[in-house]
Amino acid sequence: MFDWMIVGAGFAGSVLAERLASQRGDTVLVVDRRNHIGGNAFDRYNEHGLLVHQYGPHIFHTNAQRIFDHLSQFTEWRPYEHRVLASVDGMLVPIPINLDTVNRLYGLSLTSEELPAWFAARAEPVEVIKTSEDVVVSVVGRELYEKFFQGYTRKQWGLDPSQLDKSITARVPVRTDRDDRYFTDTHQFMPRDGYTRMFERMLAHPNISVMTSTDYRSIRDFVPHRRVIYTGPIDEYFDHRYGKLPYRSLQFAHETHDVEQMLPTGTVNYPQTEDYTRVSEYKHMTGQVHPKTAITYEYPSADGDPYYPILRPENAALYKQYEALAQATPDVWFVGRLATYRYYNMDQVTGQALATFERIEAQVPRSGVGD
Ligand code: FAD
Ligand code: UDP
Repeated sequence: MFDWMIVGAGFAGSVLAERLASQRGDTVLVVDRRNHIGGNAFDRYNEHGLLVHQYGPHIFHTNAQRIFDHLSQFTEWRPYEHRVLASVDGMLVPIPINLDTVNRLYGLSLTSEELPAWFAARAEPVEVIKTSEDVVVSVVGRELYEKFFQGYTRKQWGLDPSQLDKSITARVPVRTDRDDRYFTDTHQFMPRDGYTRMFERMLAHPNISVMTSTDYRSIRDFVPHRRVIYTGPIDEYFDHRYGKLPYRSLQFAHETHDVEQMLPTGTVNYPQTEDYTRVSEYKHMTGQVHPKTAITYEYPSADGDPYYPILRPENAALYKQYEALAQATPDVWFVGRLATYRYYNMDQVTGQALATFERIEAQVPRSGVGD
């Protein structure tokens, strides 16, 4: 009898497995239907010995000291600040839009002091900012919105920004200085030996058993367990009772090239051209020295593994129905990006898992203690 069956070996499942085993002495079975641990953060050495991220580039960044300290128990870190260029009007310019982006695109030599007025002259006032279109046009105006956001978003989501919640494009700020980093968090690192190694260390506790290539549904009736932590898609848990909750997928095209470096930055975005949204080169992130280089193109798609919740009002309403079911399901805890339908980064999922552990501690007696 396992104290816990944990569905999914990604950040949500693995962070919780480690806490339950090491802090409570609980026994845990982690099951994942993929043939590996790590969830979407899984990385591996390809046939040429290059470290690649199977599900697209993952860069760790957080402002939360507690989350950074927690993960630091399982990995050393390599400092890495991600930079992205966007291919716009035949040029490669910084995204997030900053002073250099505007000056290069328009052949200007504005200063940081002058740029706010330049934006203000183009910005379209929006009374209540609701959508992913509002959030951008209200700051930089329609022309930059169309160049950098509209096409990329239509590709990525299969929807116009006006149909998506403001929080999606709000992930990408607009700057008036020359800071060209994609993130500004206080902690920006890559796990020195890769994500998979970090997950291996997290799951190495003797109370934790791991089964990969196994769907929870195929074993749940045969493997005795007291409680469940579920990190898969919430609608699937309830057999799509209220209909399918939409998730966006991607197809990844991995390539190895016989050159040391291909891209000027870790990622290049394509908001105007190409069927893929972006291409990323891992050596920038991993620091690996190798005569060849590995890159990945991301092609958005409606079908395939669920990667992104699609944040818009009707989906939020449908999620609320599933959330109510989840709350009425005793002994099952729903955690992570797919199970709580949140557009969470790795650090946020880690934080959510740690908070869940605290709730479990408050509510669930330890095994052998009156259980
Ligand atoms: P997942 O990693 O999705 O893990 C859930 C696991 O559950 C999966 O492995 C799945 O196989 C398993 N599962 C589901 N159902 C079942 C079942 N019935 N039986 C068995 N197993 C099941 N975040 C960042 O912080 N920085 C980044 O740079 C970044 N880049 C990203 C790039 C891409 C392309 C994507 C898609 C995401 C990116 N993220 C990034 C987000 C990051 O991937 C997630 O925050 C994190 O991996 C979510 O962890 P999770 O445990 O919630 O879910
Ligand atoms: N986005 C865009 N153009 C860009 C980069 C981002 O329109 O060059 C929008 C797009 O809608 C995207 C969202 O901003 O889905 C969030 O971008 P982010 O890079 O955070 O996406 P992720 O890395 O999560 O795929």
